Amino acid sequence: MSDEVMVVIEIQNETITTSSKIAISVAKQLSKEKNIRLTAILMGEKADTHAKEVFAFGIEHAYLVKHPELNNYRTLPYTKAVTEVINQKSPTVVIFGGSSTGNDLAPRVAARLKKGLTTHVLEASWNGDKLAVKKAWYQDKLMATFEYTQEPPFLMATSPLAAAAPEPQEGLEGTTEELQVELNENDLVEEIVGFHLHKKEVDISNAKLIVSAGRGAGSPDGLKKVFELAEILGGEVGASRAIVDAGWISYDHEVGQTGATVAPDVYIACGISGAIQHIAGMKKSKNIIVINTDPEAPFWDYAHYGIVGDMHKIIPILIKKFKKD
Ligand SMILES: Cc1cc2nc3c(=O)[nH]c(=O)nc-3n(C[C@H](O)[C@H](O)[C@H](O)COP(=O)(O)OP(=O)(O)OC[C@H]3O[C@@H](n4cnc5c(N)ncnc54)[C@H](O)[C@@H]3O)c2cc1C
Repeated sequence: MSDEVMVVIEIQNETITTSSKIAISVAKQLSKEKNIRLTAILMGEKADTHAKEVFAFGIEHAYLVKHPELNNYRTLPYTKAVTEVINQKSPTVVIFGGSSTGNDLAPRVAARLKKGLTTHVLEASWNGDKLAVKKAWYQDKLMATFEYTQEPPFLMATSPLAAAAPEPQEGLEGTTEELQVELNENDLVEEIVGFHLHKKEVDISNAKLIVSAGRGAGSPDGLKKVFELAEILGGEVGASRAIVDAGWISYDHEVGQTGATVAPDVYIACGISGAIQHIAGMKKSKNIIVINTDPEAPFWDYAHYGIVGDMHKIIPILIKKFKKD
């Protein structure tokens, strides 16, 4: 076994994904606490280029698997490559990002290694030589702590809420090591025939201010004022799943368990009841303002400020007020 914390890096559209950066943040903290090496696996023919990028985030050593069949993610060849690197290098900890790719790959790798895996990890810490991780259970009603009882490698996939993505630092350098992985026809059963890039209407995940609407908007027409308020305040529009499912607004706006996870400075929830699945996606917002006719709506449990009343009357008043200022 080599004493290292290894991060499996995911590349999308030629850049390191935010979920991989979050995984690096968690890995960095674990490697620092134990003073052990921070490493990464990079796949595909451009692995060299991306190695330079990960060094700027504090990775000290990068394993490069520059196989052309690994240029784009496919479950089986990636599973083989990552499993082989882990088998060759025997790291203490392996961390995957909590994206759909990471959550697809990590269980496969864990199964091949016959190791346990924790996903959606919010916190990780050492307890001597044991590793303990925390994750939320039962729609965030319970924080559960797990300790790995098997021998390393300890495998985990991080939650998007585990940490902030690290800022790149100038002057940091690392070393690379090229590793060979044999891929055979059993690993290459899927063929990528083309890509169709879905251009998002809006990316609310990094918005600093979100005005979000729910069924209380009444109709697609009722959303017009919500868009106007968001524009005046320089923010984006969020939505509950109810109105996405109703076809009033596109999925790109959805906040929650099956939508985007957001943590803006200000989240204004208009006509949204505050179902736990919605709250799961926005509860890290710094200031939560609720506008709801029902003083008993669950959202009030999370509100810092709010107005009990009709959003169709309140939003025009806010628009008037902020237009003036
Ligand atoms: C597996 C699963 C995953 C889910 N994932 C998500 C998710 O990711 N995101 C999500 O949002 N939901 C999700 N849901 C759905 C969730 O459970 C709720 O059904 C949904 O969030 C309700 O949307 P809503 O608050 O807009 O509607 P409602 O529950 O109908 O609430 C409308 C609210 O508007 C208020 N209101 C009505 N009129 C006005 C008015 N004129 N002015 C002000 N307030 C008014 C009402 O008092 C009420 O509180 C999921 C459900 C399941 C089962």
